[in-house]
Amino acid sequence: MKIFSSFLLCLFGTITGCPLFAKEPVNLSACKQEVIRYYDSGQYHQDMNDVIQQAIAYLKQKEHQPLPKGKKPAIVLDIDETALSNYPDMLKRRFGGTDQDHATDKDAGTNPVIMPTLTLYDYAKAHHVAVFFITSRHENERDITAKNLHEAGYNNWDGLTLRFGRYNHASVATYKTAMRQRLNKQGYEILENIGDQESDLTGGFADKTFKLPNPFYSIPLQSPLGFVA
Ligand SMILES: [Mg+2]
Repeated sequence: MKIFSSFLLCLFGTITGCPLFAKEPVNLSACKQEVIRYYDSGQYHQDMNDVIQQAIAYLKQKEHQPLPKGKKPAIVLDIDETALSNYPDMLKRRFGGTDQDHATDKDAGTNPVIMPTLTLYDYAKAHHVAVFFITSRHENERDITAKNLHEAGYNNWDGLTLRFGRYNHASVATYKTAMRQRLNKQGYEILENIGDQESDLTGGFADKTFKLPNPFYSIPLQSPLGFVA
């Protein structure tokens, strides 16, 4: 009877296509090793560079096209895992840590540059395209963030927007969309918007978006949090 019951369960699963038992997930330790290999092999840098080269090519293409009357060209960059890397801190904490740990790491202001993005930044500035950083970091992190950006090689940006007021409790996507809309009202045509999370890119107010790889963490679209491991 027991064998017959098992047979019926298997048959049910086969017919419906629904798994009857949850499959064991990939081992967490193996996942972390895979991420480290991806980074150490240079593939992460290569994949970042591939996306940024597409973004530079798109800017070159737009140079020869007229903008809507009265509009000034601009691009928008996210900061973490777009302009600056948290990888050394993430590795030190084995891709874990509390929100406080992450805030402490950021407040050290020692995040290294993401070189392909600095190349795009320099290209935009050299071609009279305004560059705006819009980050989910908070306003009280402005000084250390600006210092870190300067030391990483980013200079003379046109705007650095950090979360403030009611946006401290809004989702990242809602806040970032509102900030791009504000730039639009100020007369900027955002030619491209570059970030490592969907929450950086959704919501419009940019001609084109470019998604950078991030195998380290994700920020859910509706989350007000700045970092989810
Ligand atoms: Mg980011």
